[in-house]
Amino acid sequence: MVRLTKRVFTDLAIWMMGFGIFVGIIFPFFMLLLGMSADIALTWWFFCVCMVAGLFVGAVNIILARRVVGARLVLLAQHMQGIENHLKSIAGKNEPLDCTPKNCHIPVDSEDAIGASSLAFNNLVDTLAKSIQIEVDIRTYTQMLTSHLETGELCRSALVSLMEMINAPGGAILLEEGGELVVHCTVGLSESESLGENPMVLDTLQTLKRSIIDIPKGILLDGVLTSFRPEQVIVEPIVYKQLPLGVVVLASSEPFSKEIQDNLDLFGTSLALALHNAMTHDQVQKLAAVDPLTGIYNSRFGISRLHEEFIRTVKQGGALGVVMIDIDHFKQINDAYGHTVGDRVLRSIANTARNQLREGDIIVRLGGDEFMLVLLGANRADATDVAEKIRRQIEEKRVSYGDQNIHVTVSLGGASFPELDAEYEKELIEAADRALYMVKNSGRNRVAI
Ligand code: GH3
Ligand code: MG
Repeated sequence: MVRLTKRVFTDLAIWMMGFGIFVGIIFPFFMLLLGMSADIALTWWFFCVCMVAGLFVGAVNIILARRVVGARLVLLAQHMQGIENHLKSIAGKNEPLDCTPKNCHIPVDSEDAIGASSLAFNNLVDTLAKSIQIEVDIRTYTQMLTSHLETGELCRSALVSLMEMINAPGGAILLEEGGELVVHCTVGLSESESLGENPMVLDTLQTLKRSIIDIPKGILLDGVLTSFRPEQVIVEPIVYKQLPLGVVVLASSEPFSKEIQDNLDLFGTSLALALHNAMTHDQVQKLAAVDPLTGIYNSRFGISRLHEEFIRTVKQGGALGVVMIDIDHFKQINDAYGHTVGDRVLRSIANTARNQLREGDIIVRLGGDEFMLVLLGANRADATDVAEKIRRQIEEKRVSYGDQNIHVTVSLGGASFPELDAEYEKELIEAADRALYMVKNSGRNRVAI
């Protein structure tokens, strides 16, 4: 249609009025054909009346068009404007589009182009809201992944985020450790300890392909009163550079939608990278803290742990014992049997001493044939008991070498807080060293605290 002005409704008004005048002009001739007398039909006032009537119909039509069609177009424009403003206000803020059918949709009450536009608008808004929500989820999830370096913490936070995002009430992350799948964290699942032996889980790790299982055997969700079988379980492999790190198990009481399954692809890749980093970090930390020969803490890490425990003890007003252990005539053992046997003796003594400690106590290889024990909550009497037990056990134990049994003894010197009113942990170490020196000078194989 030819455009007359810049406004569609003005064009429409002009066309309608024009058509009204046109109908007014031809109407008297119709009346002639229908038998009206020319005296009436062809008079100027009859023409005027017909044209006024035509104009009146045109005017009513334009009002109706504005009310019926215009109002809906205005509504559509207002909603579009509203969405645009909302998008501007959340730009760069990691916020979702706050859009529900109630506050964003426009009514779809006609089966024509207007209804189709309204429907298209509603669908567009829903798709936009979903895609912004995914963007927000990915950003939040990535922030979470990059803010954890310890495998344990990362595992739990990642699992909780994944469960929230895909609306799963239960899940677990299993990681491969020395050829076995070990459950590292679990939420909302019953009897999850056996997951590492579940054939479906093992199968996923082998094929490196996602498994979706309906009403699976051997996986149970925690219910209010009892556990129940989930409707569907996804077992997703965690793969880093084609190497399997483990699997994520997600269980739901209703089937997962296609959309959720697609999103899981996005989240799985970044989880694998973050877990690989965390596992490498853990290994480096462990290597930095552990003496490779005996597997106990090395001197650097052990002394920093003593520092922490000493500060905690002083603050909380408890007791703390420090005991030094030195092997008697160790050089002779090395000389007689060689370094390899000497190493075995070192490991055996570290193990014997470690087995006598309570949970939380620390054993450290200070270097050479010298060890340190940090005994939490141990006063002088407790430290003496532990030290004496270790001395006796080592004295009674033999390290075998071929058909010979090597007899080893140790000397132990210790100090305890608060009996020694130390201000720094260094004073405890020095006092324990003095006690050890005393034992060495007075015959060895003895304890002095
Ligand atoms: P003492 O009763 O006075 O302690 O006599 P000792 O022979 O044990 O003397 P000392 O503690 O000074 O000797 C420590 C020896 O420990 C010297 C060194 O050869 C040996 N040694 C240090 N580190 C290692 C190790 O990693 N492996 C082995 N096999 N021997 C070590
Ligand atoms: Mg020695």
